Amino acid sequence: MLGIERRLKRIPQQLEALDEDLVRLEKLLERERAKLQDSHEFRASQESQLRDEDEQIRSSKQRLTGVKSTRELAAAQREIESTRRLAQARSEEIGKIQDAIGKAESGISKMESELKTVRESAAEERGRLEDERQRLEAALGKTRTSRSKLTAGVDPDLLRAYDRMRDRLNGMAFVPVHEHRCTACKMQVPHQTYVMLRRGEEILSCEHCGRMIYWAAHFPDEVERLQAIIQKRKGKTS
Ligand SMILES: [Zn+2]
Repeated sequence: MLGIERRLKRIPQQLEALDEDLVRLEKLLERERAKLQDSHEFRASQESQLRDEDEQIRSSKQRLTGVKSTRELAAAQREIESTRRLAQARSEEIGKIQDAIGKAESGISKMESELKTVRESAAEERGRLEDERQRLEAALGKTRTSRSKLTAGVDPDLLRAYDRMRDRLNGMAFVPVHEHRCTACKMQVPHQTYVMLRRGEEILSCEHCGRMIYWAAHFPDEVERLQAIIQKRKGKTS
């Protein structure tokens, strides 16, 4: 039941993570598109200035025929020359903007196809998670039914206290004491408590973690299970 609840709890988080990935990619793409738009506008303004400069050169050339002195001629030629240099630099600049636009466009189309892939796999994952949620909810329903049969004979106050603790600790709230230690928090249980646990007449609490505790040896299967865990842990560390 605990395993089912934990998996169910994780599903909304996983769905949210999927959405976050998508939103992040979409924002990135939006930003790149806005930058591209700026580049287009910049190119248009540079092209319009270049047209003005070309026009200026043309009209200056026409005026050359009407000059009355060598001084006027020299001044007009200087003007043409400087405008020509401006226009030349601007053409180069436009070429660079054009390169940048080309790169940005291919980057954007790559991002668009990536986004498409991510969107598709997110939709698939979402479907899978929804299926899992339904399956888990059905399983939880069944487990709840059998749990309520099992708890029918338990003292209601005790059951309430147990449920509260189970919610708070997000997990097991009734744990075995094995080899004088609480198996949840691993702290040693005082001798007096241990003696009472062995008697098994009441449910006690671990004074360190607050969980309800019982003596593992009341259940031989439990001892076997705990020994197996300890053996496994030893095997890992040696
Ligand atoms: Zn404890």
